[in-house]
Amino acid sequence: MAAYFVVFSFIVFVLLMGPSQKFRNGPIGMIHRFLTVTLVNGIASVNRRICGTRLSGKFDGIYRYLMEEKNPALQMVYLFLITGAVYAFYVSVWPHIPGPYLSRIHLYTSNLIIIFTYATMFIASRSDPGRVTRENVFKACKAFQYDLVLFEPKQCRTCLIQKPARSKHCSLCNVCVAKCDHHCAWINNCVGLKNYRYFLLFLYATIQICFYGTYLVVYAFMGIAKDMNLMSAYVSNIQTGKSMPITTYQAVLFLIHQQRLLGALGIFAFLVGFVILAFLGYQLSLIKSGMTANEAFKWEDLDEIIQMGELYMHEKEFDVDDAKLAKHAKISKKIKLYWNETAEERKQRLGGPRGKNDYDGTQVQSVKEVENIFDKGFWGNLKEIFFPPSIDN
Ligand SMILES: [Zn+2]
Ligand SMILES: [Zn+2]
Repeated sequence: MAAYFVVFSFIVFVLLMGPSQKFRNGPIGMIHRFLTVTLVNGIASVNRRICGTRLSGKFDGIYRYLMEEKNPALQMVYLFLITGAVYAFYVSVWPHIPGPYLSRIHLYTSNLIIIFTYATMFIASRSDPGRVTRENVFKACKAFQYDLVLFEPKQCRTCLIQKPARSKHCSLCNVCVAKCDHHCAWINNCVGLKNYRYFLLFLYATIQICFYGTYLVVYAFMGIAKDMNLMSAYVSNIQTGKSMPITTYQAVLFLIHQQRLLGALGIFAFLVGFVILAFLGYQLSLIKSGMTANEAFKWEDLDEIIQMGELYMHEKEFDVDDAKLAKHAKISKKIKLYWNETAEERKQRLGGPRGKNDYDGTQVQSVKEVENIFDKGFWGNLKEIFFPPSIDN
């Protein structure tokens, strides 16, 4: 049972953290790729061989629905797990409140925390992430200026409207999302400018219920041990026939064996809480760097380009008219222009007749030389999350 929970938590951890900047190139990233690409393709090909093309076509359809369309599958898994844990709580923990270590107040706080968890899940799922539409696109473009590194003015090919800086088109929601972080399948919604705060609240609520649940389970166990006077018990060794005072380890094993549901609930709550705490830590590290998850991937790609020696920078005093880039954004007059080109492209361009827009530029040596104009410091970034700029008219 415990082993099953450890494996389950590990898989959830890998699925959550696999694509992240820190783990993408490490073993966690490898396992993530194995689970999401190799294993899925393997299952698909075995499936085709066993079921033939007609039936496997059906499975392909289901797979495409689950992976490539907006669907509530993982949201249902979350609700199923939370509801199962809540049920286990009422069956196994509730009868021990009040107990030797748990006062009557937990009868009220536990119910409040359960309601709070469902409520934050509902709010995070139903909230507007900051959809960019024809009506609000002008205001949405004013919220952030183009940094001309990660974001430059262009149109969304699907929505056919200007793409604001920091926005991303979500192919699952089929909409452009302002300051898009990522599409979260657990809430079946995008996480962006307007609902990142609710997403944080949802993570916090889940961590809270997990660790509060762990706390209640531990003290319920201690109450049971006290009522049984377990710690003054003796354990007799079958082989030697000798009786020894019980050790803490033996007492814990005995209790978990006696109260399996209570034990399973405690282990499950602790592991899930720990995994989501790690994920929250990752989100906080992004907030500290002033990046969305989407931008973290872009920074990593940029770093690769820099490592290959293909990124150049040119600082120029721009007439605002001169910069067609300034058309849809507020851009300061002195801007840094970045572009990437291979050595061959560069030789050709600089060898040919120089036009007005040809820049020699200096090669960027390190990603640290590139300024993240969206980073306002940890507290500034946090303030922007809780009080986001308005994009609605
Ligand atoms: Zn779009
Ligand atoms: Zn989405």
